[in-house]
Amino acid sequence: MSGIRPTGFLHLGNYFGAVRNYVRMQDQYTCYFMVADWHALTTMTDTKELATQVRRVMAENIACGLDPDKVAFFCQSHVPETAELYLFLNMLAYVGELQKTPTFKDKVRLQPENVNAGLLTYPVLQAADILLHRATLVPVGKDQEQHLEIARDYAHRFNTRYGGELFPEPYAFNFGESLARVPSLDGAGKMSKSENQMATLYLSDGDETIRKKIMKAKTDSGSGPASRTAEGAVLVQEKMPDAVANLFQLLRLVAPAETVTAFETDYAAGTIRYGDMKKTLAEGMVNFIRPIREKAEAIQNDIPYLRRVMEQGAAKARVSAQATIKLAQEAMGLKYY
Ligand code: ATP
Ligand code: MG
Repeated sequence: MSGIRPTGFLHLGNYFGAVRNYVRMQDQYTCYFMVADWHALTTMTDTKELATQVRRVMAENIACGLDPDKVAFFCQSHVPETAELYLFLNMLAYVGELQKTPTFKDKVRLQPENVNAGLLTYPVLQAADILLHRATLVPVGKDQEQHLEIARDYAHRFNTRYGGELFPEPYAFNFGESLARVPSLDGAGKMSKSENQMATLYLSDGDETIRKKIMKAKTDSGSGPASRTAEGAVLVQEKMPDAVANLFQLLRLVAPAETVTAFETDYAAGTIRYGDMKKTLAEGMVNFIRPIREKAEAIQNDIPYLRRVMEQGAAKARVSAQATIKLAQEAMGLKYY
């Protein structure tokens, strides 16, 4: 089970942290993937664009290879059972703990004028999304790791308080590898839908935009660890600067291993030309993003098709959701006849 907020255009981080794994999981697991429109409301006050954004995120997931016939692919608000479980879990969530969640503190800094209770209880709603399907594997990026820990706590507390083993513990999942974190091009954080937009590569970016963003990315003033003085003496730099490490990380996502090794060798020898490296990176990204962009454009305005996808997805998700809610109500003693 996993979800993405319809807060903007999908980017490389969403792809490598989440959607790529949705696609890899869809043939082996029973999967529930959703567009988290209720979660978007915690930060989005103007909802004029919401419908377009929901349809776009749907289209972009499908363009990345997600198959709505193989998984339950739905919109969060079309599964109202989520709200009931959210209410139950709120009784197990402590305000002090929620206030200490790093993502909450970040959002308070970003939107001090709109610190709403939905923002505070974001991890509770997220736990409800996951536990509603009694999911154990949650394909997400590194930034979500802490939220999973919270979801495990609620699963455990529910089982302990009401007895039984209704909720298994969910874990962040990346096929045994460490969780992905795609850095922003300015090195100042992660790529994001709603922050760092000039330093984020979107799956909807045109070829020229991709090239421009990458050519502007920061590098290093020297040319690797073996930069030399005017006399030719080698000045060894201790550590690869973050901006350069980020470029290598991005290059590894889209370039063949030999190409990466060649640039690494140049870097170690102090002969790397960052302009060449960025050009190679830009072309790799253009080739990677273009087919996804073109496919998403073709799908996102096909409202009758997206409606069928959403209806079919919600129907599948509600079967699992209703079964869980019934068991939760029974465990809690909410059964009077
Ligand atoms: P927002 O800025 O609105 O929070 P976001 O880009 O952080 O958007 P989310 O909808 O919050 O995207 O997250 C969707 C999925 O993408 C989650 O699984 C999250 O871990 C993953 N993800 C987001 N950004 C990155 C990134 N830079 N690297 C790896 N995974 C990421
Ligand atoms: Mg996010």
